[in-house]
Amino acid sequence: MNCLICRQAETVDGLKTVHFERDEFRLVVNNVPARVCLGCGEAYVEENVAVELLREAEEILDAGRMDGVLDFRTIPQPNDTITTCNSASACSF
Ligand SMILES: [Zn+2]
Repeated sequence: MNCLICRQAETVDGLKTVHFERDEFRLVVNNVPARVCLGCGEAYVEENVAVELLREAEEILDAGRMDGVLDFRTIPQPNDTITTCNSASACSF
């Protein structure tokens, strides 16, 4: 697909480090599978991946921690279903 941000480059499969920030809360997730733009570096995370990331962030928040560093490959996956995200605003970090 073409990048929705710069509209000038193709995106390719890659791994992306995703940063969450919410008030004082900081979470870094390494090795998140994403489509990465060759032009501007924008990353598009698929919907099921985004849902998983948010769930992990909530768990860490609920545990009372204010920061964390995760590797996406170590997060248990509920299933291997791949869905395509059509909403850039909802799925782009
Ligand atoms: Zn781009």
